[in-house]
Amino acid sequence: MTLLTQPITAIRDAVAKGEASATEVCRASLERMQQVNGALNAFNLIAADRALERAADVDRQRAAGATLGPLAGVPVAIKDNLCVRGMRTTASSKILDTFVAPYDATVVRKLEAAGAVIVSKTNCDEFAMGSSNENSAYGPVRNPWSVEHTPGGSSGGSAAAVAARCVPLSLGSDTGGSIRQPASFCGVVGLKPTYGRVSRYGLLAFASSLDQIGPFTTSVRDAALSLSVLAGIDGADATASAEPVADYAASLTGDIRGVKVGIPRAFVTEGVDDSVRSAFDAAMDTLRDAGARLVDIELPHARYAIPTYYLVCTAEASSNLARYDGVRYGMRAALAKDDGLKAMYSRTRDEGFGPEVKRRIMLGTYVLSAGYYDAFYLKAQQVRTLLRRDYDDAFARVDVVAMPTSPIPPFALGEKTDDPLQMYLADIFTVSANLVGIPGISLPCGFAGRLPLGFQLLGRMFDESTVLRVADVYERATPWSGRAPSV
Ligand code: GLN
Repeated sequence: MTLLTQPITAIRDAVAKGEASATEVCRASLERMQQVNGALNAFNLIAADRALERAADVDRQRAAGATLGPLAGVPVAIKDNLCVRGMRTTASSKILDTFVAPYDATVVRKLEAAGAVIVSKTNCDEFAMGSSNENSAYGPVRNPWSVEHTPGGSSGGSAAAVAARCVPLSLGSDTGGSIRQPASFCGVVGLKPTYGRVSRYGLLAFASSLDQIGPFTTSVRDAALSLSVLAGIDGADATASAEPVADYAASLTGDIRGVKVGIPRAFVTEGVDDSVRSAFDAAMDTLRDAGARLVDIELPHARYAIPTYYLVCTAEASSNLARYDGVRYGMRAALAKDDGLKAMYSRTRDEGFGPEVKRRIMLGTYVLSAGYYDAFYLKAQQVRTLLRRDYDDAFARVDVVAMPTSPIPPFALGEKTDDPLQMYLADIFTVSANLVGIPGISLPCGFAGRLPLGFQLLGRMFDESTVLRVADVYERATPWSGRAPSV
């Protein structure tokens, strides 16, 4: 357990120097996951045998005198919508209950090439649709700070796994906030990279123009280090950018004097819980005291972000999820003798998908249908362009934009499940970054009672370096990132 609470570099160096074996670290992680999973339900799969084999590989490489990678021996948990070859990969959906991935996602391949040891697949909302992890076919994840509360979603298991110190690094996917919001709810660091910074090959697609993969960690430095491993061009994903990958950890200079931080005051006032607002204001004071300049900005179209997002994401989801038809992947419904092909499709989809996924497929099909395309889908794409211009204007004046991650503190399990619209509205501060494609990081910035609060920093396209540099200065000046719950 003790090594698991250390920074990634400390674990890696301990393994490289032989002060700890990768096998020991792996065992500690496996034990910790077993210990907390009854309470948290954070893991769909704990892959003990495979993990121990990989750890033994790392130990053999070290014994043979090989140079070890930057994540050598570091245990990593992977959101269950990412393919790991030979592992059950379900996206927390009944329709993929029996699906075993025949190939590795590019991020998985990169992690393992860097020496990381994949130890588990994490619970999430079904096909990453949700903000509370309550849409999982395998039951909700619980917040490590309070098991009556949601860990956020959709990557709730990945956030909880890092918060509970089961692993120092996990992967999530962020389509409209699913890395940043659970990071905020669980008191850890969550980074959504620029669209195209990280290959999506092997990610079970939800909304392809919005999805990005990114890390959960306990510190900004670990996020920076992980991004350097994950990022880069990929022949298997045409949207993965050829933009050179920076040494992100090297950009953490500790100096943000003169950096301009934009605050969309009008946008962050309405409907924001008092606890969130005062933690956010205090965070802005900290940045100013560290030498940043706070600048008021306007994002005039930000208030349309929620309807725009829920039109675009449902449209893309309805198309992406058409592939789950009982023919190629996962489950097929039991059929009567004279049932035809159509009955097989519809029964499989009826039995395999949960209510939220069905709601989105219906919505998305509707907004793409001939009579409504112009009024809904096309209009949403137009507003998306206006939103992008808002951010272009803002980034002509400032280096980063700051806002809360969630307008409310972590809410109780069951509190919002009867009202999907309420649940959608809580995504107000996260969805814009995906619609625009820019990078964002959520950082712990205090507590409401015993529940963590977070705020986010957004940056220019491919300028993760500045976002991380500002985040790191904030983290060093405050005690929040170091706090761990007692589970
Ligand atoms: N909460 C948002 C949704 O339900 C975002 C999900 C995500 O980022 N995967 O769509």
